[in-house]
Amino acid sequence: MIARNTGFSNLTAGYLFPEVARRRREYAAAHPAASIISLGIGNTTEPLSPHIAKAMSDYALGLATPEGYSGYGDEQGNTALRERIAEVFYNGIADASEIFVSDGAKCDIARIQTLFGRDVSVAVQDPAYPVYVDGSVVVGAAGAAKSDGSGYEGITYLPCTPENNFFPDLSKVGKNTLLYICSPNNPTGATATRGQLKTLVDFANANGCIIIYDAAYFAFIRDESLPKSIFEIEGARTCAIEVNSFSKPAGFTGVRLGWSVVPNELKFADGSSVNRDWNRVMTTLFNGASNIAQAGGLAALDEQGLKDMKDSVDYYLANGKLIKETLDGSNFKAAGVEAYFTGNGPYVWAKFPGRKSWEVFDLILDKCNVVTTPGSGFGPSGESFIRFSSFGHRKDVEEACARLSKLVL
Ligand SMILES: *Cc1c(COP(=O)(O)O)cnc(C)c1O
Repeated sequence: MIARNTGFSNLTAGYLFPEVARRRREYAAAHPAASIISLGIGNTTEPLSPHIAKAMSDYALGLATPEGYSGYGDEQGNTALRERIAEVFYNGIADASEIFVSDGAKCDIARIQTLFGRDVSVAVQDPAYPVYVDGSVVVGAAGAAKSDGSGYEGITYLPCTPENNFFPDLSKVGKNTLLYICSPNNPTGATATRGQLKTLVDFANANGCIIIYDAAYFAFIRDESLPKSIFEIEGARTCAIEVNSFSKPAGFTGVRLGWSVVPNELKFADGSSVNRDWNRVMTTLFNGASNIAQAGGLAALDEQGLKDMKDSVDYYLANGKLIKETLDGSNFKAAGVEAYFTGNGPYVWAKFPGRKSWEVFDLILDKCNVVTTPGSGFGPSGESFIRFSSFGHRKDVEEACARLSKLVL
């Protein structure tokens, strides 16, 4: 028989979100009358902009005509879309030849792990979006889980906690490391300042590191002084790859469309071009994003589409504010709960001192019938934290907040 891929045998327990779903299912089965509200998984809930949906529908119907039909598209994605992404989001800091359209940021991160292979050193923010670590384990860039629960062998965990304003201490990062940074952050909501990113970029350039910059929540940034792309920082073009997505701003979590930016100046140790190998990955292991989704992406970037995306993000940010206000309530304060919400990301990250994340998760599920996400699922430094997602219908968020405000902790 064929031996199991050791990367998979090294993976511990379930992936976080399936475990959340399992507990929810079990609770619902045992309490059939409970009306469960999810503030858990970061999945969009509001309908697509009719303008964007119509562009996809028109494109799809056009595919049934000789004039409108198209098969495989341009190598790195629809050229008009890449040019528009460059113009709208990277005016002057990256061009269309450096942009690759994909089926989403998570898929790009998995392919990036193929690009760097098993011999690369990896450092992650702790807590972090699970694919950085789990994907590294699968490709063999990390080893087995350590028995003391402090993570996987071969991965450097960089704690991001209230004590360091959720920005990692880079002195723990070795030379030539692949460094995963997410801003605005999932799960903590922290958004890196220009100064913090400059520190990061200077460190990476001085130490031969490459930063994988996950900017999936860039559209939530409302503070004009905060950078939306790492390429706004001088020096980033020689040390960073940015991954990005239409999932959160345009509600494309199910439609599937994202992009990556790999600057022409970015090089491997032997002087070869990272952009060229990434083109190879994208053309040999991936055959392009759906042309229907790309038509939607183009519509999302015209005047009406940009307005619709902003409105959608504003809606979720207003939910986040309601959740933050609830967690600042006297019942939470009495238990010493500290809630962090920056207004520049969709997550409220709350610390429950002296408690385990899964214990608080179960308590909130049981007493409020609200599903959250346990912080410990994002890494060792997430223990005692709970992530509340602002993705939800307003009336559900209001109902969840009403229940939470009565919770006795
Ligand atoms: C939701 C999310 C993504 C989006 O992934 P897609 O595959 O584009 O849907 C990427 N990174 C983070 C941190 C996310 O939370």
